[in-house]
Formats: sequence, C-alpha cells, structure tokens
Amino acid sequence: MNRKLKIMMLSSECVPFAKSGGLADVLGALPDALQQLGHEVIIIMPKYASIDVRKHNLRPFLNPLGVWMGSGAEEWCSVYMTPATKSVPVYFVEFNKYFDRPGLYHDEDFKDYQDNPRRFGFFTRAALQFCRDIGFKPDVIHAHDWQTALAPAYLKIWHWNDPILGNAASVLTIHNIGYQGVYGTEHYDYLGLQWHNFVSDKFEDHERINFLKGGIYYADLVSTVSPTYANETRTPEYAHGLAPYLNNKGKNYVGILNGVDYARWNPAVDTLIPARYSVEDMRGKAVCKRELQRRFLLEVNSDIPVIGVISRFVNQKGLDVLAGAIESIVNNMRVQFVVLGSGDKKLEAYYGGLPGRYPGRIGSYIGYNDELAHWIEAGSDFFIMPSVYEPCGLNQIYSLKYGTLPIVRNTGGLADTVQQYDEVLGTGTGFKFWELSSQAVYYTMGWAVSTYYDRKTHLRQMIQTAMTQDFSWETSAQAYSLAYQTAIANKKF
Ligand code: ADP
Repeated sequence: MNRKLKIMMLSSECVPFAKSGGLADVLGALPDALQQLGHEVIIIMPKYASIDVRKHNLRPFLNPLGVWMGSGAEEWCSVYMTPATKSVPVYFVEFNKYFDRPGLYHDEDFKDYQDNPRRFGFFTRAALQFCRDIGFKPDVIHAHDWQTALAPAYLKIWHWNDPILGNAASVLTIHNIGYQGVYGTEHYDYLGLQWHNFVSDKFEDHERINFLKGGIYYADLVSTVSPTYANETRTPEYAHGLAPYLNNKGKNYVGILNGVDYARWNPAVDTLIPARYSVEDMRGKAVCKRELQRRFLLEVNSDIPVIGVISRFVNQKGLDVLAGAIESIVNNMRVQFVVLGSGDKKLEAYYGGLPGRYPGRIGSYIGYNDELAHWIEAGSDFFIMPSVYEPCGLNQIYSLKYGTLPIVRNTGGLADTVQQYDEVLGTGTGFKFWELSSQAVYYTMGWAVSTYYDRKTHLRQMIQTAMTQDFSWETSAQAYSLAYQTAIANKKF
C-alpha cells in the first residue's frame, strides 16, 4: 500500500507563481505534502508573462521542445525550471504565442482569450511530450480542472503504448464544476482528439467541445475537493450538466477535502495581525477586534459581535442573498459587519455604500487585500458564507483556526468542515442553514447573535473546539495517496 510513486501534476496555476483561485493554493501545498509521504512529484505549468524569471530564479531547462498538435501542426517551445533548492521542481512551458499576455485566462477587460482551448490543449500536450523528452516515467499523471483535463484523454488516445507514458494512470481533480472549458468545434482538429470521440459520452456537449467532460470519461479516477461536493455534483442541481457522467464513474469519483496552510493562517504565528493569540491565551483576539473596529471606523466596543465577510463577489458566493438580510440584521440586532471583497459591480456599489448609510455599524473595503483578510479573520466574532455552492472553501477553515465561528450554508466543503451548534449540549463549531434565502440568513444570524449574548459558556466551548480542529495537508495527501493507488489499479484492469 505504501508504494512510493512518481507523480506529475499538470496545472494552469500554482502558488507562488500564478494564482486566480484555490487551485493555485492546492498546487502550492499538496505536492510538498505528498513528497513528505515519500512520493516523487514534479509540477508543470505555463510560463505566463506575469511570472518573473529573475525573481523566482528560474533557469532554462530544455530548448527546444517540439509538440505535435492535431492536423499535423508542430509547435516549438522551451521549458524553464525552478532552482534545485526547491524540494518539488516546477517546470514552465514557455510559448510566447499563447502565454506572453497580461492575464492567465482573460484580458484586462475580463474578456476570455478566444484561443483558450488551443492554449491549454497545447500546454497539456507539451507537458506530456516533456515527460517523454526527459524520460520521466510517471506512475500517475494528476490533472487539475478543465485546463488540463485533456491529459487523461491524450494518454489513452495517443500514448497508450508509449514506453514512458504507457503505464501512467490518470487522476483528474475538479476544483469547481462551474468551469468546464466549452468551445466551438473549429478547435477540434487542432486538439487532436479524433472525430470518432466527438460523441456525447466523451467530448461532445450540445455540438461543442467540453474539455472537462472528456477528461471525466478518460480519467482512471476523478476527484473533487470535498466529500459533500462529490455527492452534490452527482445531482443535476449542482453538476452543471455533468451529473450522469460523474455517476458513470461509480466509486471512481471521490471527494477529498483540501487542506489549509497553517504556516500562513494561524493566529499564533500570523505576523500580519495586530496581536497573536492561541486557544491557551486569547487576549490577543480582543486586541485584534479592537483594532479591526478602529480601522473600519466602527464603534469600538468589545461587547458587540463583529461579523466578517471576505469573498469574491460572484453568484456562487450568495452575497445577493446576504444583501437581502444585512440591513434588517443591523436594524434589529446589536451587531457590526466588516465586508471585504470585489467582483460584481452592482454588489461592489451596494456593499461599498453601506458604511455611509450605517456609520459605525458596517465597514467595507472593495478590493483585494490579503492583510485585511487576515485582520478580519482575527478580529471578527463570526464569519458568514451564504454560498450557493462551495466545492471546498478556505475561509471557513481559516475562521475555525482564528476562533471566529462560521455561519454557513450547509453545502459542499462548508458542510464537511463546520459542525452544527447543539443548543442543548453546547457542542459544535458554527451555525449552519440549508435554505438559500435572506430569511434563513437572518434567522441563523439571530441564532448566532443570541448565543453570543446569552450562552457565553457555549460560545467559549465552541471557540475552543473550533481552534483545535485540524485541516492540515497531511491528511489530504494521505487520501490522495490512496486515490492514486486506486487509479493505478483501475488502469491495469
Ligand atoms: P474561492 O477560491 O472560491 O474564492 P475560497 O474560500 O476557497 O473561495 O478561497 C478564497 C481565498 O481568497 C481566501 O484565501 C480568501 O481570504 C481570499 N480572498 C477572497 N477575496 C479576497 C479579497 N477581496 N481580499 C483578500 N483576500 C481575498
């Protein structure tokens, strides 16, 4: 069971080189955790223009790399790599035609690059060719999201009898099924997927190409980032059209909860927050709360509960639902809000305008600010996430560590990481609601606030339990290890 594996990760993002979301965090942490377990991991990603060769001390590694695309096109590119001091090597495919641009996926106006299917199809094939050129014989190819979802397909269509790649099992991880990579058929020839595979079980999706769907079909094992999200995405409500294909995978579709990086998100060592604290000595949390209230021009009062929000303003996060409740909450309950986020312009205007209308009671900052995110986690009493869906979610896990009790919709990773408060026993780590409505948010908030004022012993007990929860990467890496073994077994039979 403890066989040491050679693993190649293909990803379009990885911390600290390029990030647009949680995917990058996973790639920044999981490979190290796997290596701690004795596996050998390499990562390959595109060399975007935003990746500074000098800052990261990258060096040229392989030049040139010839990549055959469909319809006979051969593209020539080169590869960079991280310095030998880094425990998990990261390789970067440099190809100016596709990656020498300001954004990862879209331009400054948030318009997707029209050639995204070609960019990432090319990258995926280049990554596999790279393995062959350097003789890295992986036991497992681990692809992430639609951008690299063609890897399992290429392995089976093109490399099934290859001396280097022929034995590799494939794992595909879905970080958010809302993004599938669906494009017009004019790209199909270039991708080299063969027209007999353009059928509804594989790549065809309403006469378009669906990268993720094809990846699901061909992967030896598919995973997503929490057990509950794995169950949810087996149903039409959550799967954005892919439920039947995920159900076809049977036991080979699994949910593995992401870990979090406690070196960065732990109030005992966090240097970004005004004062440090731990479950043994909570005095620092009071300082963090006071400073947070000051910074957001709220009434400085340790008795009033502060509710934190940190979020991308997109439909998935349910901030319109919160908007329908937040004013009744501040009008009827003795609470304060601190909101940090950006995205949807209407929501930005709404949340940005609240401090002016509720001075001293609601503070907000529209934009992205990592330091503020740490301040809010540390200085708040509660943290709300009314997500429509949440594949894993990180903020609620950070909140637990900071003793900031999460108030969450019971979905995806939120359901798996937050334990419901039991009003009789005083157990639990947060407050969960099911219905996606402003009313549910209002009443759950009322429940949390009344616990704050009226059941202080319960509150203290919950904070203590929350802060001692452990969602470190080691546990997740062990689960991935097992998943790899299953994929290898599936590949053989
Ligand atoms: P998602 O990946 O869907 O955005 P997660 O909860 O998994 O949601 O991760 C969000 C991460 O991004 C967290 O680390 C959170 O602190 C951070 N974040 C989101 N919005 C902001 C913001 N406006 N400023 C700073 N950090 C933010």
